[in-house]
Amino acid sequence: MEVKIGLEIHVQLNTKTKLFCGCPNPINLKEEPEPNSLVCPTCLGFPGSKPRLNAKAFETAKKVAVALNFTLAEETFFSRKTYFYPDMSKNFQITQYEIPIGRNGFLEMEINGKKKRIGLKRIHLEEDPAKLVHVGGMGGKYVLVDYNRSGIPLIEVVTDPDFKSPEEARVFLHKFAMILEYLGVYDDCSKAVIKSDANISLSIGGRSGNRVEIKNITGTREVELALKYEIVRQKNLLKSGTAVKTSTRMWNPDLKVTQEMRKKETEEDYGYIFEPDLTRMEIRKDEIISIKRNLPELPEDKQKRFIKIYGFHEKLAEALVSEPDIAELFEYAAKKISPHTAGTWITGYLKKTLNWHGIRFKESGLEKEWIVKLLKMFERGLLTDRGAELIIRKMVEEKKDPEYLVEKYGLKKIKSNKEIEKIVDEIIKRNPKAVSDYKSGVEKVLHYLVGLCMRETHGRADADAVRKILIKKLGA
Ligand code: ZN
Ligand code: MN
Repeated sequence: MEVKIGLEIHVQLNTKTKLFCGCPNPINLKEEPEPNSLVCPTCLGFPGSKPRLNAKAFETAKKVAVALNFTLAEETFFSRKTYFYPDMSKNFQITQYEIPIGRNGFLEMEINGKKKRIGLKRIHLEEDPAKLVHVGGMGGKYVLVDYNRSGIPLIEVVTDPDFKSPEEARVFLHKFAMILEYLGVYDDCSKAVIKSDANISLSIGGRSGNRVEIKNITGTREVELALKYEIVRQKNLLKSGTAVKTSTRMWNPDLKVTQEMRKKETEEDYGYIFEPDLTRMEIRKDEIISIKRNLPELPEDKQKRFIKIYGFHEKLAEALVSEPDIAELFEYAAKKISPHTAGTWITGYLKKTLNWHGIRFKESGLEKEWIVKLLKMFERGLLTDRGAELIIRKMVEEKKDPEYLVEKYGLKKIKSNKEIEKIVDEIIKRNPKAVSDYKSGVEKVLHYLVGLCMRETHGRADADAVRKILIKKLGA
């Protein structure tokens, strides 16, 4: 079986204002605004209103185009894509068709340990339509329209049909989102949404199906699910000798199925014409050079640098660059404590704890300096492994300085051997059966006794020291 998948990805950009008017961009607001409160005659599409281009959005799109290796157009312009639907009250969407900002880009990703280059057909800017709220669900009694979303700047990136599996599409989207985050144009923790349309066709033993488009899939994980579902559906059709029709389907994230939508329009049906209310935009060569020069360090380069400077394994470096805020925390910490300690603890227990809470470092309320303080205590031998883990957990839960938490939970490591000996004596006294088992040669009992001592000290003793003292005492 051969699978061919291509993606059309829409990303809401985090500009302050909308693409063609001065209304605030709702994705930046902490609280959900009242429906239809962030609107003006332009984004409501009133007759006579005129769009004006948000320069920042155009700049952002050019930056993304350069970072994704596109060839930028010397001159580009907007067009009207005509269609009738309540989410677009002008009856057309302002988008780019004939000459997009960039063509022929690419992105390299790793799939099963091998590098793979995904071709990118085009990147352009367009406005988001309004949001339709189906009261009582799809097929409910009526629909409400919220024009707050109308006019949010979107970049659309269209890939070549280079993906051979749903996993590849997911890995790509993940990397794509990560690069946008490094560029500072998209924030995973904000309300900005990445939506994809996926085109997929299948062929089994010479029998090929037509191309099916799945619309409006939100997020990166859902794309993989939708495509997996569609493969099973199309495979069954092909096997039973039924033709797979060219069609447009919708992903239903609640039912986890794709559903037939409507007959697909062809591009001709949209009757594109150029947008006369906006000027043509020139992109100069020297501007492209300066954008390139000012790009932030992207994750791949950062990873290479970490490997080179710190001698890290590829996997550790990869984990460190997976989120810009984690990479930043690491670089901050690596100046103050051993980079190895910083790298392993940040990608290890800290990330594990944050993941468990489903939050990112930058939204955790933790201060970078707290992580440094904690790891310094660990390096100086004031905390055991277990103690440091506990402090990380408490730090995420209570958002307090580690020194305060060490005091509060009494987690300072027991350094005096005398104190450890006392505890070991106590454990030996309380467990005569285990002790006699050990003496008659059941070695694994030692592990059990070490565990009891550790529990008795709440993880404050060094396990190695405990083991040594136990062996000495039991041997006597
Ligand atoms: Zn507006
Ligand atoms: Mn579009």
